[in-house]
Amino acid sequence: MLTGILEGKIAIVTGAGRGIGKAAALSLARAGAVVAVNYNHSADQAQAVVNEIVNNGGRAKAWQCDVSSFDDCGAFFSDVIKEFGRLDILVNNAGVTRDGLLMRMTEADYDLVMDVNLKGTFHGIRHAARQMVKQKYGRIINISSVVGITGNGGQANYAASKAGIIGLTKSAAKELGSRGITVNTVAPGFIETEMTAVLPEEQKSKLASQIPLGRFGQPEDVAAAIVFLASEYGAYITGQVLQVDGGMVM
Ligand code: NAP
Repeated sequence: MLTGILEGKIAIVTGAGRGIGKAAALSLARAGAVVAVNYNHSADQAQAVVNEIVNNGGRAKAWQCDVSSFDDCGAFFSDVIKEFGRLDILVNNAGVTRDGLLMRMTEADYDLVMDVNLKGTFHGIRHAARQMVKQKYGRIINISSVVGITGNGGQANYAASKAGIIGLTKSAAKELGSRGITVNTVAPGFIETEMTAVLPEEQKSKLASQIPLGRFGQPEDVAAAIVFLASEYGAYITGQVLQVDGGMVM
């Protein structure tokens, strides 16, 4: 990771206590950013991420917020801006799955996945944009999935939420580009985290055979793309979907 390329930048990463969000928070901090580490339930894990950043000479603080609540997100973003003075980078990473076949999918499982994944991303953009427009600077990175491009049997709710993130990203990129704000999507393929650990071995080996690079992704693979888009190296990129999937979908 290029150290110092995000020196002085202030970042929020949602769902940063574990998985991809944790790797993103650590990588952004290693690149020099001050990080607001958001969690919903994983308080201890989020504090451990903060401790790791601070022990390595960085600055970070943990914040509880359920991203599916518009008002809670508003209060959280205000607190971060009050504490750190500005907001340069937002990584809308928090996400959940409630897999099941369409014919049996409950309304509650559909709603929860849409509320956290898609509406949560809207909340983040909505609350960050106000500050970023004032600054005439911002980098918003939304985490979708290759499933949002291909669809996936058993994941209609999840795929709909992730496809929605792509449309939301492109619309926000068009609205906010003239204000110096880029908005992009990172679409991971199969990344080894708690989210994918629950999948049956048979399904995993079938998926592995579809990856040209011959391995599952690691959270750090996704974090590298996030740091790139957050940095000046990504300054002229907006409205794009960057797949980090080892070539699984092309
Ligand atoms: P994970 O290990 O299951 O972690 C999910 C994270 O989301 C946790 O930090 C969790 O926080 C947070 N979260 C869930 N609901 C939340 C809420 N209401 N408010 C705030 N935070 C919430 O998943 P992951 O694999 O790291 O996935 C991270 C993102 O990448 C998700 O958007 C996922 O859809 C996407 N993605 C993952 C893969 C993959 O293969 N792993 C592939 C494509 C896309 P708490 O623990 O604090 O509740």
